Amino acid sequence: MNKIRYCPNCKEYTLEEVCPRCGAKTIVKAPPRYSPKENVARYRRKMRREILQKEGLL
Ligand SMILES: [Zn+2]
Repeated sequence: MNKIRYCPNCKEYTLEEVCPRCGAKTIVKAPPRYSPKENVARYRRKMRREILQKEGLL
């Protein structure tokens, strides 16, 4: 399986170790991993803040 690489110079993704456009070395850029747990925690924090704000208005 090919790793997706990224040229920071061109800001483009490629599969080559060297950017076919500018010849710069590309870096391996793993796709962002989302943890469902983190998402839920963030969502809860957001909800709690909104509730607190609402209560502060009442
Ligand atoms: Zn490039």
